[in-house]
Amino acid sequence: MTTADRPAIDKESLRAKYREERDKRLRPDGNDQYLRLTGRFAHYAEDPYTPVTEREPKTDHVTVAFVGGGFAGLVTGARLKEAGVEDVRIVEKGGDFGGTWYWNRYPGAQCDTASFVYMPLLEETGHMPTEKYAHAPEILEHCRRIGKHFGLYDNALLHTGVQSLEWDEARSRWIVRTDRGDAFTAQFVAMGIGPLHVPKLPGIPGIEEFGGHSFHTSRWDYAYTGGDPSGAPMDRLAGKRVALIGTGATAVQCVPHLARACGELYVFQRTPSSVDVRDNRPTDPEWFAGMATPGWQQRWLENFTANQTGALVEDDLVMDGWTDLATRVRSRIMALPPEDFTPEKMQAAYEDSDFEKMEEIRARVDAVVADPETAHNLKAWYRQLCKRPCFHDEYLQAYNVPGTHLIDTDGKGVERITERGVVVAGREYPVDCVIYASGFEVGTDYTRRAGYDLVGRGGVRLSEHWSEGMRTLHGIHAHGFPNAFLVQPTQGANLISNIPHNLTEAGRTIAVIVKHALDHGFDEIEVTEEAEDAWVDLLLSGPGMLLGSPDCTPGYYNNEGQDPGPRGRLNVGHPQGAMAYFAYIDEWRTSKAFDGLEFRRSRHDPGSPENSENRETGR
Ligand code: NDP
Repeated sequence: MTTADRPAIDKESLRAKYREERDKRLRPDGNDQYLRLTGRFAHYAEDPYTPVTEREPKTDHVTVAFVGGGFAGLVTGARLKEAGVEDVRIVEKGGDFGGTWYWNRYPGAQCDTASFVYMPLLEETGHMPTEKYAHAPEILEHCRRIGKHFGLYDNALLHTGVQSLEWDEARSRWIVRTDRGDAFTAQFVAMGIGPLHVPKLPGIPGIEEFGGHSFHTSRWDYAYTGGDPSGAPMDRLAGKRVALIGTGATAVQCVPHLARACGELYVFQRTPSSVDVRDNRPTDPEWFAGMATPGWQQRWLENFTANQTGALVEDDLVMDGWTDLATRVRSRIMALPPEDFTPEKMQAAYEDSDFEKMEEIRARVDAVVADPETAHNLKAWYRQLCKRPCFHDEYLQAYNVPGTHLIDTDGKGVERITERGVVVAGREYPVDCVIYASGFEVGTDYTRRAGYDLVGRGGVRLSEHWSEGMRTLHGIHAHGFPNAFLVQPTQGANLISNIPHNLTEAGRTIAVIVKHALDHGFDEIEVTEEAEDAWVDLLLSGPGMLLGSPDCTPGYYNNEGQDPGPRGRLNVGHPQGAMAYFAYIDEWRTSKAFDGLEFRRSRHDPGSPENSENRETGR
């Protein structure tokens, strides 16, 4: 469609509508509106998938302990093994590797960033994803494949939750204590606890009173529903009345399966998701064989990230809804005459592109959903990146399936849960089962989500070091916490559209640093205070949060609409974007200069007095 063919968009009334819808949803309790899974939900702390096996507590010593067996632990472990660091121990609270893909087995779960860039280490393990957007069982299997390929099972402690990490200054090592009675030491620790691993419930009055069955999507109860994670029909739901609470990315994927299975399905919506075309398809092995030449996955990763972050690239290898979003914004901005290259005009061009995209998404609802009132209620009135963009070709269609009902709460949320069912606007919907698709803790403190607080040099806790907000070098190192590494996106590339890209780069960086320390006999590595300060200053020189504007409808992208204060200002990435960060960190680690890090030989070794020979900055 050319610019001339496009229907004119009334921007002022759209802005007013967006504000009106946001204001309906703002609430003073913010993150406090959610509950942890306790009481009748306390069994969520247990693993329903794998029986726990008894073992003796560990009291030995390892070179590297990694907290978390999800993608972060797997890619870091893999890079360490590749570098020749053999003695790596992953500690994981689940019964197997996989992290989010271990716990989330709800029907329809699949990646919604293309498998070729989302699934790490495909080239190294020789796996061809079977679909452009692989389903959860294949991703979980891939996690196991990485574990086996790189020998990460050998020393792993599964069904083990870390309870404390304490720096032993006298011996230059970490003491790791777990809920299985382990008290072992590690020269280095790294942590990849995942951004979304603690399930949360909406604080709806009466939630404990419901007399029927209920569960959270991250612990799908197939014993109750029938079916299995690979999509077998949930035959035990035939004739059942089921309530699903929440309409985020998880609900978008499981609603089509529930619609097919339930007698009556009631989907309770507070805010609609924006749902664009998915266009999933099986991978053509011939095409894959031709494309997968050496270095292919790194090329794809870089191409996706470049397209995603608005860099000027000629081709778009992934070609999907994510890259379309970014490509549109870029071409709008590039179409501006040179004199209009001002921040205001560029923001306006971005907003135009956003309005246009969201109008298309709303038009798609009308085109797909037969009932006009349901279609009206399924339209998202906010800017595209206010919430996680969703892509699906069966979600909207599910509302045409007889017995599927959208119960819109006009932004207010479910009013109460009774012994019999769910109440909205004074009307009770009696149901047999309530399923909570209510998401995960995001805006809470790192140490709360980790379940432990690092105790670093001089007994200082990580929560104390970060009392004014996160402070790191590269999102990886924190001053006062020698030999400890974080594997996560914030203060690094902060690439939200493809989290694994952040993790694979961090894993690579950490492997190079650890190898360097081991090869040169250094016992301690620590970021200097100056380097950490300089990195934080660099982060603060940027434009701030690109996601999560206070103008957005509330959600976890914008701290539920509440001002996160100066602490929130630090939850950012490199000011020049993800590509700049990846280029910078590649050069930083390849140079082996390690600017900002201090490498030390132990002060406590006999015959190894602290002197200039035992201490090197940046090398
Ligand atoms: P979300 O936090 O995105 O969604 C929670 C849902 O619960 C929202 O619709 C929320 O409404 C709703 N809700 C909360 N309180 C109430 C209430 N009182 N009454 C009614 N509804 C309520 O969780 P998800 O599990 O859907 O997704 C979390 C994240 O996990 C995603 O954003 C994505 O990053 C990731 N994910 C990724 C997938 C993938 O890559 N394939 C698949 C699934 C998830 P409101 O919007 O108004 O707050």
